[in-house]
Formats: sequence, C-alpha cells, structure tokens
Amino acid sequence: MTDSTPRATNLTPAELDDLRERARREAGPFVNPAIAATTRAHNPEWARAVLGGPRSGAWWELYLIHLALQAEPSPPPPPLETAARAARERQEAAARRAAAEERAREEAAWRELVDVLLQAGVRVEVRHNYTSHRHYELYTQGADHVYLLDPLHVGRLHRDAGVALCHTPSNAHNLQVLEPIGDGRLPSCRTCLRHLRSVARRLSA
Ligand SMILES: [Zn+2]
Repeated sequence: MTDSTPRATNLTPAELDDLRERARREAGPFVNPAIAATTRAHNPEWARAVLGGPRSGAWWELYLIHLALQAEPSPPPPPLETAARAARERQEAAARRAAAEERAREEAAWRELVDVLLQAGVRVEVRHNYTSHRHYELYTQGADHVYLLDPLHVGRLHRDAGVALCHTPSNAHNLQVLEPIGDGRLPSCRTCLRHLRSVARRLSA
C-alpha cells in the first residue's frame, strides 16, 4: 500500500499499538462469552487493519476488536471493497454506453436501408412471427422479419405486398402470422436482412 491508499481505519498507528497492547494485557486467558457473542468487526478490511494482519482466532484478538469498536464506532468505508465496487460500476456503465452506441448504429443502418426502399416506392416495416413449425431448419422461430407493405421487384427478387422478405413458397406456412409490433424493434431475421441489404445496394447503385 502506498501513502495515498485510503485506510480501512482512521485510528492512527500509535492508537492501534496502544489498543493491541491493552488487549494483550486485559484479555486474560478465558473467553468472555458476552463479548464473544456480541463482537462483530465493522468489515473484514477494518478487522485486518486493527489486528495488523490476518486473524489467528486467538481470544485476545476478538477482545482487541471489541476495544477497537469502542474506539472507532464509525470507520471509513472499506477501501478495497469500495474501489472494487466503483470499478464494477464503471465497467457496467461502459458496457451500457457501448450497448447504446451499438443500438444507435444498428438503428441508423436500418433507417438508411428503409429510406432507400422508400425512395423506390417500397414501404417496409418490422413484424414479429408468432407461427411456429419447429421442423423447418432454415426458419428462424419467433424472429422479427422485414415485412413488405408494397410489392417488390428488384433484380431476381420478386415479392408480393404482405409477405416477409424471406418469404418463399417452401417456408410460406411458417410465416402465416406476421404481426405488427411497433415497439421500435429491429429485424432479427438474417435472411430478411440479407435480402434487404442486397436490394438496397442494387437500388442505390
Ligand atoms: Zn425473415
């Protein structure tokens, strides 16, 4: 520990030495059950600072804690635990910021793709699929799809209005129920997104 490291106790080294000496002198050979039953260190870091090292379990140490509790009823916050908590909170805040930035990037990318299609007269929205037929391997169950409100004919891709971009005759019955969600969710269906990107690329070329 360096001098700038916060201490777990505000008792000075001299005060601690006095307390330790007093504890050794006063404790006696027999455990006082009343003190043993009620003495609880403020926290492990404080106890370690008071004892000057790890606990051996000797009675005089517990008596020393008892004396130190009286000498210091409200110690400073345990520095290691406090620093660890602060580091954890900083990490969590950074993770939240990163997630929000990622979300903003994904939203911007989505809006850009939607705008390209809109300029070509094709409106799309995100719809959730509640139909479930698990035996279809290529079908993403419960995904959020890109749903066409207008027919789309770009390159070799031809879709009627009222279907998802990933719609094919073979997976049609998996996509019977596509419900509007309107909660700002972004599409999660990879096939839809792949089609959307390639359509947007062709349209803006
Ligand atoms: Zn899809």
